[in-house]
Amino acid sequence: MRANPDPRRCPICDARRRTADDVLACVQAHERTRTINGVVIHTEYVHPPVPWRGDDWSAITDDYDGAPDAGPQLHGTGPTENAAVADLMEQIAEREAT
Ligand SMILES: [Zn+2]
Repeated sequence: MRANPDPRRCPICDARRRTADDVLACVQAHERTRTINGVVIHTEYVHPPVPWRGDDWSAITDDYDGAPDAGPQLHGTGPTENAAVADLMEQIAEREAT
């Protein structure tokens, strides 16, 4: 993945925006909820403030519980939205295989 050289540009659709807040709003508009094989999946653009862009996207299932006592939770990550969803689907497949 290439770094986003222009902070005024949405890294997903490449649209030019006036302010950083407008860029964030554009990015958040790309986040969505979808259903794959009956599993409801929410994606989120995380973009952590580190050079590594491999965790820019996060994908979780509808029953995701962030509480510390909730036990291990499936959580897909990836440099793109589709990669995060693919990561999550792989984890779901692995869980079902055991
Ligand atoms: Zn956009």
